[in-house]
Amino acid sequence: MKRVGVIGGGQLAWMMADAAQKLGVELVVQTPSVHDPAVSIAQETVFAPVDDASATEILAQKCDVITFENEFVNLQALSGLAQQGVYFRPKLEALAPLLDKYHQRCYLRDLGLPVPQFFALDEVENVKSKIEYLGFPVVLKSRRHGYDGQGTFIIQDFATLEQKLSDETTTKTLNQSLFLLEEFVPFERELAIIAARSVEGEIVTYSVVETQQEQQVCRRVIAPAEITPNQVAEIQAIAHTLLNSLEVVGIFGIELFLRADGKVLVNEIAPRTHNSGHFSLDACETSQFEQHLRAVCGLPLGNPALQCAGAVMVNLLGYENSHSDYQSQRQQIAEIPQAHVHWYGKTESRPGRKLGHVTVLLDNQNQESATAYGNDIAHTIESIWYPR
Ligand code: ADP
Repeated sequence: MKRVGVIGGGQLAWMMADAAQKLGVELVVQTPSVHDPAVSIAQETVFAPVDDASATEILAQKCDVITFENEFVNLQALSGLAQQGVYFRPKLEALAPLLDKYHQRCYLRDLGLPVPQFFALDEVENVKSKIEYLGFPVVLKSRRHGYDGQGTFIIQDFATLEQKLSDETTTKTLNQSLFLLEEFVPFERELAIIAARSVEGEIVTYSVVETQQEQQVCRRVIAPAEITPNQVAEIQAIAHTLLNSLEVVGIFGIELFLRADGKVLVNEIAPRTHNSGHFSLDACETSQFEQHLRAVCGLPLGNPALQCAGAVMVNLLGYENSHSDYQSQRQQIAEIPQAHVHWYGKTESRPGRKLGHVTVLLDNQNQESATAYGNDIAHTIESIWYPR
């Protein structure tokens, strides 16, 4: 497999570039805009939205195998291509149960994996009593196309719920069948694990990390998470069960909640490389991006272990509408010892947009807590990045 087609040309595809070069693989990207990050590193680009299956047909003619950096594809249309012999890795059947958050929850529950209590809004007769049973706050989620907290709402009372549903339905002419309601999990921490599965069925997992979200958007990741060996084993077992069940080939990201009583629940599955694994670019022998390409190309998997005591990754999120490239802030951040700045080359900044990230490798020899040390460094980075 020498030419890999990637559906989506954002930063996740852009970060495959170094690994592609190392492995002697060419990337052909399908993405709508000439300004998308991966256009600059792609051998060739098919300019089209990710859900345009006729563009994917053209992409298929230019490569040996197709993978995803964005899962908001039209699976039904793609399955026609798969029947004609186009190779998708992971295969389309591995994505099918995941693209709708309600179907995803059902799939995980049916596998016996722990998930928050949930129901589809159109499935129950008496929504009010069901919610009373869950208790407020509840979490309302769009079943499809949610990311970075878009489409996730923490709701405190009925009036807000009704308001929210009518707002969403009038603006997009949607109906209740497009929503999932679930218990609000008063988590103590959020965790994530990146796992890869090869064509032969070998699975490797990266260190379990702590992720920190603000307004439902990932701000920081600390590797490794300070959790018990039993919790690590439990989370690794969840990854194995899921990847084996779906016969995944490639990287998956699994987001989890850790409750105060120590119980772990699965929140969400990303069927691709994931923000919680960006630390691996600088902190691991084999990054999640290289690992993904290895799996997709049928190569043996690489070593996912941390090569340092730990790492903290901080997202550089847009905080204004601007065309700045933030040179001086990036420069200051790059001067932090052991810092590696990754700038995605986006031409436009908007509030909340992921513009880049920085990973700082931690040498914890004299530190009592890696998490506290990581948090301190994250604070330093954010005080340089965000205006006071
Ligand atoms: P997205 O697909 O937009 O990333 P998620 O389901 O991952 O949506 O939710 C984003 C964030 O919202 C989570 O990381 C978490 O902080 C919060 N969140 C989501 N679901 C719940 C829940 N059931 N209970 C508490 N917080 C939640």
